[in-house]
Amino acid sequence: MNHEHLENVLRFHGHLCPGVAFGYRAGLYALKEFGAAQGTLRDTHIVIAENEVCGLDGIQIMTGCTVGNDGLLIQNIGKQAFIIIAKKDGHGLRVLLDVPLWDSEHPLMLHAKVKSKTATPEEKKEFFALRTKRGQEILSMTDDELLKVFTASYPYTEKIRLFPFKTCDQCGEAVMSPLIKEVKGKYLCQSCEK
Ligand SMILES: [Zn+2]
Ligand SMILES: [Zn+2]
Repeated sequence: MNHEHLENVLRFHGHLCPGVAFGYRAGLYALKEFGAAQGTLRDTHIVIAENEVCGLDGIQIMTGCTVGNDGLLIQNIGKQAFIIIAKKDGHGLRVLLDVPLWDSEHPLMLHAKVKSKTATPEEKKEFFALRTKRGQEILSMTDDELLKVFTASYPYTEKIRLFPFKTCDQCGEAVMSPLIKEVKGKYLCQSCEK
């Protein structure tokens, strides 16, 4: 385990939890498999995430494939899995968490109470303690215990993301041209069109 990388992940995410621990481990596994240094897979690979929770931060820091650099696609189907594929041929790996993210539903019940601001101070404390504990458990397991790895392929094509700007006739702000609409001879952004 590389503690410097883990520290970067935790600083970015803000806490240790099972999700970010899995994202870190899946990213670490991909770096080992593809012989890449931390943060450099963005040059050669993209990541497809099958969830949109904490693990995203771990996989982004470890691989360097981020939402902002178009290296991370989120296809949330509610699974703790990441697909890492090569841009050049669309082949790669799918890394699935092979243990339960949480070891019971109790912390999830506490989480719901924390989020809806109905948790007592004791329940809050208990949730944070259980979250840290499960995160540490996931960090301490071996790859064999923790992960199930499949070969995967995904049809990858680069997409154009930069376009010329047009000015909205109402608010005067610049808008990427595919996202501005012409309404009765006026160009309107989506905020002004409402
Ligand atoms: Zn988290
Ligand atoms: Zn506007």
